[in-house]
Amino acid sequence: MTLPNQALVLFSGGQDSTTCLAWALSRYAKVETVGFDYGQRHAVEMTVRPAVLQKLRASSAEWDARLGEDHVVDLSLIAEISDTALTHDVEIAMQANGLPNTFVPGRNLLFMTVAATLAYRRGLDVLVGGMCETDFSGYPDCRDDSMKAMQVALNLGMATRLKIETPLMWIDKAATWDMARTLGGSDLVDLIRTDTHTCYLGERGALHDWGYGCGTCPACALRARGYRQFAGYAAT
Ligand code: ZN
Repeated sequence: MTLPNQALVLFSGGQDSTTCLAWALSRYAKVETVGFDYGQRHAVEMTVRPAVLQKLRASSAEWDARLGEDHVVDLSLIAEISDTALTHDVEIAMQANGLPNTFVPGRNLLFMTVAATLAYRRGLDVLVGGMCETDFSGYPDCRDDSMKAMQVALNLGMATRLKIETPLMWIDKAATWDMARTLGGSDLVDLIRTDTHTCYLGERGALHDWGYGCGTCPACALRARGYRQFAGYAAT
């Protein structure tokens, strides 16, 4: 038995997945990345990915040596078969079932399945995702139980011993910023602040202390609040 040491990180170009990528690079001998193009209304996340990868490489010779191929998978069928505020031009709002209309049903389950298929081909034994139960929007497929069930289903269905790691599952956004500082110091915090993208509306006009974004959508509000909490306790 060898310890799992080759990881595939679900990397969107946002704060969470970039922090997960740094986490994986500090742990595993080999790390590959996968991004999903699913007809997001604003493809800014997908366009910032190459620059984030390049800057992570430049930040550490060790990380550069560990970071392998980047894969981009076209999942435009998600926009075809679902109707949500992330893939269609409608106002972000709360739905009658208590979930925001940015929820894309089954998205993370599909992402994990596709990632597992890719990991199988590439001989990678860990899947790393930024799902989080603490500071989340109520998406049921971000929950720990959903991810654990997914790990069991994938391993049964593919006769593998894949491990799903979700390093952000039990921490809030402020602690996610803090994790970045622990992993890569203030350089990594600055990289995440200025190069990653989280805003639902794709706004990249003004640079705020917490990064680019409209400042008012749920993703921006969460990111800004977390950064300010982090910066507050970072100064003490
Ligand atoms: Zn925003």
